[in-house]
Amino acid sequence: MKLPILGQEPQASELILGIDLGTTHSLVAVFQHGESRVLGGDDGNNLIPSVVSFPEDGAPVIGSAAVERMQLDPLRTIYSAKRLIGRSVEDIEREIATLPYKVVHSEKRDMAVIDLGDRVITPQEVSAHILRACRDRAAKQLKLDADSLKKVVITVPAYFDDAQRQATRRSAALAGLEVMRIVSEPTAAALAYGLNKKENCKVVVFDLGGGTFDVSVLELHDDVFRVIATAGDTHLGGDDFDRAIMMHCAAEIREQSGVDVLAAPSARAALRMISENVKKQLSSNEEAEFVYHDANAGIAYRRMIDWRTFQNWIIPHVQRTLDHCVNALHDAKQTPDSIDEIILVGGSTRVPFVKAAVAQLFNRPANDNINPEEVVARGAAIQAGILGGEVKNALLLDVTPLSLGIGTAEGTVSKIINRNSAIPVQAKEGFTTYVDGQTAVKFTIVQGERELVKDNRTLGEFELRGIPPMAAGLPQIGVRFHLDANGMLNVFAKEEKSGVGASISIEPKHGLTDTEVESMLADAWQNAEQDLETRRVIDLHSQRKNVLRAVHKHQKMAEENLGKEQWQELHKATLAAEDIADSTDAKAIKNCVDDLENASIALAELLMNDVANNAVKNQKVSDLNS
Ligand code: ADP
Ligand code: MG
Repeated sequence: MKLPILGQEPQASELILGIDLGTTHSLVAVFQHGESRVLGGDDGNNLIPSVVSFPEDGAPVIGSAAVERMQLDPLRTIYSAKRLIGRSVEDIEREIATLPYKVVHSEKRDMAVIDLGDRVITPQEVSAHILRACRDRAAKQLKLDADSLKKVVITVPAYFDDAQRQATRRSAALAGLEVMRIVSEPTAAALAYGLNKKENCKVVVFDLGGGTFDVSVLELHDDVFRVIATAGDTHLGGDDFDRAIMMHCAAEIREQSGVDVLAAPSARAALRMISENVKKQLSSNEEAEFVYHDANAGIAYRRMIDWRTFQNWIIPHVQRTLDHCVNALHDAKQTPDSIDEIILVGGSTRVPFVKAAVAQLFNRPANDNINPEEVVARGAAIQAGILGGEVKNALLLDVTPLSLGIGTAEGTVSKIINRNSAIPVQAKEGFTTYVDGQTAVKFTIVQGERELVKDNRTLGEFELRGIPPMAAGLPQIGVRFHLDANGMLNVFAKEEKSGVGASISIEPKHGLTDTEVESMLADAWQNAEQDLETRRVIDLHSQRKNVLRAVHKHQKMAEENLGKEQWQELHKATLAAEDIADSTDAKAIKNCVDDLENASIALAELLMNDVANNAVKNQKVSDLNS
């Protein structure tokens, strides 16, 4: 049902990178040879810590090397820049209080910037360094010149506003990169899972990262994902799990040794690292050991932590993620059961208790087949592949698989948009009334190739009311069909003389699978001949009734004014046309209608004279008036 876009094959040098610019980690991926692939560093690690350190003398240090400088140079080692980007100091006061480096207001830009002491840098500059590191990694892995890699797709959280997206674009520009598209993280995750191929799919993306939690409800309509609800907490994530372990162990250390280990920043940083390690081990082991030694302070602490204990410590945090899920479902007007796919994203979804909690909420396990830390980057690469033409048959021009039309009063279909029209498409058709003084018209919108309403799929009905009473055939009702890029059909009907209108919006593809479309088409082919014949009979009867109605209306006049022979001929043809009402013999009906039309020519002439006489009379009246 799809047509590929015709266009130039993109050049190999047009390779577009997919970048997940994360709060704690960033990744770069490409789409090549039919699949997405995350590019690893020399150390084999796919994650680039989103950390940049600016030594007083010397070039900025990025990634793992910058992480090592965190304790050494906390005022000049910037992490979580994503929390600052595109925001003003007012927006993020709470944020700033927790950061070891100095965030100040920039008069010039009206936004938060970082004061290194000897100079001020923007969050965009920090992100630019990370983006450049991604580009350099790709160049190295792919053995390409870094300058040849200029185009990128970057993911951002679904809730990012325009300022935050613009600032992200600005970061790329600073890095000398051209942003081909900004994609929301949940959309990228859904793309990575290939959910863009499922019709009318509803997806929940549960993304629990290091310091942020986002849950999004997406709806897929004709290859386009729409985020219909988001919820979350920008201060909820794996860091909370680390902190839970750290706080319990620090309390025990204080009990045992009387030392408040959390007071010293370096000890605190060390404890946090040990805690994170223990947490990660507990994702695959039943228990893990927490070991902390500090000979100078007289501390020798070790403790086994089993998964059950850890689980109890993190219950409140996990409960909060579920509360957000419930809110997002509510906003999206969905229930756990109405969701087709649940996807796990973010390193913290590796915690078995988190998985179990999500599974319990949705009554089934969530999908975690793709590495939850890589899934967003891989989706970005797929989007890059689509834009670069690498992903075949994915970015497609949609066409409407079946014709759309209006059912007439006689039960036949008047097609308005033909099947295989590329969407968006618009078309218009004129209709009129059937009965004198008719003030309302009912429209049945049908889909399919068959000639009769009853053999097609009825999509909806609506009524145009308030038409001023007029003789049958006089109202001019324009019906416009507009099928938009999202596959929504909007139908507008308007009576042109009075201006009264009505409209309806429906989703023609709703609940229709490709197989059903195919069987509807096959049906139409098979019945085409018979359908046409039936339709012809109906159309002829309709014509017959119209002529008969006109003749009856002027019967008295005909009887009084026509010559005897003319009148008898008309009378005979009228009776014949009435007698054939039940016939399905198109030829016979056609003969009757032709005879009646011929016999009524004299009457028509009479009527025309009458109209002309009236016009002359009116003329005279108006002459008198002037
Ligand atoms: P972000 O999108 O915020 O940059 P990530 O998706 O990279 O975050 O997730 C980082 C978080 O995942 C960290 O808190 C990290 O400790 C946690 N994490 C990574 N691996 C595991 C694991 N095996 N078990 C539990 N948590 C993990
Ligand atoms: Mg993330």
